[in-house]
Amino acid sequence: MRIAICASEVVPFAKTGGLADVAGALPLQLQLLDQEVIIIMPRYKAIQDPKFRIQRLKPDISYSVIGKNLRVYFIEKDAYFNRDGLYGDKTGDYPDNLDRFSYYSKRTLDLLKEINFAPDIIHCHDWQTALIPVYLKTLYKDNPFYKNIKTILTIHNIGYQGLFSKEEFPKLSLDWSLFNIEGLEFYGKINILKGGIEFCDIINTVSPTYSQEIQTKEFGFGLQGLLNKRRETVFGILNGLDYSIWNPETDKFIIKNYSLKNIEGKYQNKEELQRICQLPLKKGVPVFGIVSRLAEQKGFDILTDAIAKICKMNLELIILGTGDLKYHVLLENIAKRYPKVISLHLKFDNPLAHKIYAGSDIFLMPPKYEPCGLGQMISMAYGTIPLVFKTGGLADTVTSDNGFVFDKYKKEDLIKTIEKAIRVLQDKKKWLELIKNAMQSNFSWNESAKKYLALYEKAKSQ
Ligand code: ADP
Repeated sequence: MRIAICASEVVPFAKTGGLADVAGALPLQLQLLDQEVIIIMPRYKAIQDPKFRIQRLKPDISYSVIGKNLRVYFIEKDAYFNRDGLYGDKTGDYPDNLDRFSYYSKRTLDLLKEINFAPDIIHCHDWQTALIPVYLKTLYKDNPFYKNIKTILTIHNIGYQGLFSKEEFPKLSLDWSLFNIEGLEFYGKINILKGGIEFCDIINTVSPTYSQEIQTKEFGFGLQGLLNKRRETVFGILNGLDYSIWNPETDKFIIKNYSLKNIEGKYQNKEELQRICQLPLKKGVPVFGIVSRLAEQKGFDILTDAIAKICKMNLELIILGTGDLKYHVLLENIAKRYPKVISLHLKFDNPLAHKIYAGSDIFLMPPKYEPCGLGQMISMAYGTIPLVFKTGGLADTVTSDNGFVFDKYKKEDLIKTIEKAIRVLQDKKKWLELIKNAMQSNFSWNESAKKYLALYEKAKSQ
């Protein structure tokens, strides 16, 4: 099958979140499954770096190669993309994001024809590429080159929809008749993601549970009705984990490599972690780790409500994260009050993240909603038992056999579950069983790619 992956960020070229990991890993796996794949993304400032070995195709199109000659095409337009940020800067979103991503979408469709790559599937990701299905079924519908192309739109987080004021509608070159409830209108504004959902052939999200959740008022951010209307074409496929990066047997960032057969090594990492975090080396004390964006979505509202109580338990808590200033301040205050319990690191630090995944006993991840989530999968690979709220991808990956799950989003339930985990940790045999189940779980990209391929087949046969 011929597949064009369209995404606004792709590892290793540009990344702000999990979307880039998916858009970088999935195409390589599809190639391993003998599919013909290309990627098309904007060329941001950071992609000038010579390490990417960029080659020129046209005055405004360049490309690089990953995997086995897999081409990543870059749409260039300095006025739009030659900037430090992908979507915005310190002051917020760039004001011309509608111009930037509508330009990218049209140029992408034109490029396919110019390079004579007629894909069976265009796989779009998030609102930045969601105009592609809209254009395909409107501006490009009478052009025979595009006739048989099917589109899939993957939603990585429905909280981001690409909302713009009505006044910008003419910039899209679409007929005004599309600015209505059945089209791109959303409470008087333009909603690009909504347009994508209306016009694509198949909608996908990054976990089966999230695909159901977004059809409800609680999680749908206003798009639940539309998604529910299209429920026969809404699917969910878990993201995979890159085990070449996240593997305690080969991890270069941790002091001692280990595996299930040689689990003692994990306890050397625990001691080292306590040492570098300047926490007391108390024998048998449970060490909890958090590596996360500090945002309300990630559960920091109930966590900060519960934290005074948590700090009075027999545990140590290491927090690595950056995000909302509000949580920086709250956590700094509490860390000052409990210096022997909390070790706080308000920064992005990949080597420290590896050490926390390896050295903690329990990985704390209580997001209010989590489309897929990587932290729980990573921690399991390191035999660090996840403690999660039952939502989205967390509900699909963590069970009582490999972790701790609470199902009411309340601080009392979080506290109770932490107490339970501490109790179970005292039972060596039970704990080892949890570690074994966690380390044996497998969330490989290979499995996810096979599921995507089946979804592409489904779209093709529609
Ligand atoms: P999201 O993409 O919503 O932030 P995920 O759980 O899908 O959440 O992915 C988060 C990824 O970012 C994980 O790999 C996690 O280890 C990493 N990460 C988050 N915050 C930090 C940080 N402060 N330092 C290092 N790595 C971080």
